Amino acid sequence: MKITGIETLVCHARMRNWVFVKVVTDQPGLFGWGEATLEWHTRSVVGAIADVAELVVGEDPRRIEHLWQMMFRQHFWHGSGVVRSTAISGIDIALWDIAGKIAGVPCSQLWGGPVRDWVRTYCHLGGGKMEDFYETSVEDARKFGDLASAAVADGYTAFKSMAVPPTMPLEGLKPVRLAEAAVAAMRDAVGDEIDIMVDCHARPSPAMGLRFGQALDPYGLYFFEEPCWPECIDGLAMINDALTTPVATGERVTDIAAFRDIFARRGCEICQLDITHCGGLTNARRIAALAEAYRISLAPHNPQGPVSTAASLEFGFSQPSYIICETVHQDVPWRADVVEEGYITEPEGRIVRPNTRPGLGISINEDEVRKHPFEQELPQQVFYRDGSAGDW
Ligand SMILES: [Mg+2]
Repeated sequence: MKITGIETLVCHARMRNWVFVKVVTDQPGLFGWGEATLEWHTRSVVGAIADVAELVVGEDPRRIEHLWQMMFRQHFWHGSGVVRSTAISGIDIALWDIAGKIAGVPCSQLWGGPVRDWVRTYCHLGGGKMEDFYETSVEDARKFGDLASAAVADGYTAFKSMAVPPTMPLEGLKPVRLAEAAVAAMRDAVGDEIDIMVDCHARPSPAMGLRFGQALDPYGLYFFEEPCWPECIDGLAMINDALTTPVATGERVTDIAAFRDIFARRGCEICQLDITHCGGLTNARRIAALAEAYRISLAPHNPQGPVSTAASLEFGFSQPSYIICETVHQDVPWRADVVEEGYITEPEGRIVRPNTRPGLGISINEDEVRKHPFEQELPQQVFYRDGSAGDW
């Protein structure tokens, strides 16, 4: 059995270009789907997939670990930079889809699953609609409350918000009070039974992240995400140590050694590895094993397209420490036209029952994908009031 080609299909989904990866084999009808979406780097990733494909076309798709080692180690440069790592991830996910199809079972069964009856999911405020999630001003606390109520009315028991504004390395009380008011409005709107998450997008410095975290601690957030740069491991550890709210991070981390350093210093309680960036399902399973040793839970980052979601769910059905699946469902109105999924989402509680189809259980409608060709992603730039550059 041989890989005969690796194709990329770019699907413009407003804020992101979904990069679908199709690994084709010499067996009639046998191919796998992966995803390598990397916002604002679409052309780079498509090019990187073509470069990495040179290593694996002609090889046996069933030797997934061997191919992963080749993709990561060969051509001299290790594959931990985010562009190359995302390219490797897209191919690796597709290889696991093929493995499941060959065995005739969902991927989670290849890894000893399922370990649970259903997976819990959460949404972004506004269901992932760009304007609601990313552009609701933190000065508009009432809108945070309204969007929170809408998420619960949609059946979700948990949702994520961006209630912490961009701040310079040190600022006074005003942004902290605004964040607190937005979170208080959401808590008032949904009560104590619903889980609220706040994503700081690694905007704050460790000092500001600590201030925000302490102000929000009394609201019992489910987790507090990226309160500072993931490179500031001491900052993460300081914040995680100071709060009762668990800190989450990991979506921008690709290398297993970097995860080890964060875990060893207790920089987080929740690891948000991104299966489409961290080296695919092969490396995600390694990182999960490492997290298990520290009793750190898993909540993979997944604001991308439908193959990423299917991969996260298969992973979730095989990992005991997986706590919740991030989802977006209203980023584009035609999301469901592009993919047919093998799993069922129950509207009540938005829980997902296991996929029963082989592999990732998805089929991509290539004609629908072609209706949405590449477009440059909208810029999302932050400048502080003095004109200096900040983190989005
Ligand atoms: Mg995030």
